[in-house]
Amino acid sequence: MTEIIRPLTHLVNLQSPLSLSDYISEGGYQGANKAIHDFSPKQVLDLVSDSELKGRGGAGFPTGMKWGCVPMFPDNDENDDEVPEFKYLVANADEMEPGTFKDRYLLEGAPHQLVEAMIIGAHTIAANRGYIFLRGEYHLAAKRLQRAIDEAYQKNWLGNNIQGTKFSFDLYVHTSAGRYICGEETALINALEGRRATPRAKPPFPQMSGLFGKPTVVNNVETLCNLPHILKHGADWFKALSPDSDAGTKIYAACGRVKSPGLWELPMGTTIREILYQHAGGMADGLKLRGLLPGGASTDFLLPEHLDTPMDFASISKVGSRLGTGGLIVLDDQNCPVAMVLNLLKFFAQESCGFCTPCRDGTPWAVEVLTRIENGKGRKEDLDTLHNLCDFMWLGKTHCALAPGAVEPLKSALRYFIDEFEQHIDNGCCSYQQQGVTQQTHAVQPSHGGQFHG
Ligand code: SF4
Repeated sequence: MTEIIRPLTHLVNLQSPLSLSDYISEGGYQGANKAIHDFSPKQVLDLVSDSELKGRGGAGFPTGMKWGCVPMFPDNDENDDEVPEFKYLVANADEMEPGTFKDRYLLEGAPHQLVEAMIIGAHTIAANRGYIFLRGEYHLAAKRLQRAIDEAYQKNWLGNNIQGTKFSFDLYVHTSAGRYICGEETALINALEGRRATPRAKPPFPQMSGLFGKPTVVNNVETLCNLPHILKHGADWFKALSPDSDAGTKIYAACGRVKSPGLWELPMGTTIREILYQHAGGMADGLKLRGLLPGGASTDFLLPEHLDTPMDFASISKVGSRLGTGGLIVLDDQNCPVAMVLNLLKFFAQESCGFCTPCRDGTPWAVEVLTRIENGKGRKEDLDTLHNLCDFMWLGKTHCALAPGAVEPLKSALRYFIDEFEQHIDNGCCSYQQQGVTQQTHAVQPSHGGQFHG
């Protein structure tokens, strides 16, 4: 069996992450060293574009293309005067998607990898200041990141004239006050500015006018952590990690009632079957797979017939869902899909920022209708209401993607599990309640749950 290369996680140590000197002796900071000494920013941008790295936060947008929108490269730019002097790079570490805990693993287990990645990113877009926007509950990650940043300052990997070059970069950890919507990049920018965390209208895009009106790039933690390895080994090496799929590896996870919930770094495009049965050990004893959300709580359900689908952006989209964060949330045959969807909608209703009507009013309305159905007081017309709400909150009808994401599990549950909804309405309960099966309404485990597997 070929050994799987795990660039992102091979230096992760959750008990005691590597100090700067140990990280360097394991090959750390070689990527940053190359970026600042051997490459021009334009060469790094070209390398990252050639590597075909796509964002790992959910959207899958090409990283090189995102960076390419930032006004930069004064040396080669005919309009030097128009290149802003101040720019920002932000790591989006506000990991609050239910069922997703991959970034926490990297933040707690290899903080220097992210610091190195941010040096590379900042050098490329000529950012002078960076922020790690961290989920407020990630106390251990905050402590470990701050320690890594302090060490990096002491050894001149951060600060003025880094390693004797003209490049200067300051990096700060900013802990979130705690809203799911802060994971949306423009809401995150508002929160960093001390404003209410509501998404901004686009355009202007943050790359042109972001934090404090200056060009800003916001990248997911896992996305950024690929940079040191791309710099060290090259674009072709990165693409060869998963020759038949999107480039690189992906940290996949599985939670719900599986034998061994956790996360694993695997080649991009690993099938759902392999993740679920080989790495997560299959369903817990006595349970069968009913369905799953492939990429966190805001993705559409897939069914057992989709098990052989590769977990990459295009393949998952072809079967009607999204790769999202790559965290599988598994529904077994002893849990009611209506209860699971209600549980998810309650979360999204609580986390709606309240800025636009379809989401502010639609998510609690869906909770009200689903609660009625779940409690055996549903009416036939409630199904039409739920269908209408899915349409009311769909893409293009709300100010940001929270509402369409919230209805993805509901919409697909109405498609795949309509019998359960009807059974609740006709019989006042579902077969699981009739059999006296305890409902595990927390099929979605807290995002700090689960075990980590390197
Ligand atoms: Fe806020 Fe929801 Fe509208 Fe997004 S969709 S702006 S979270 S109210």
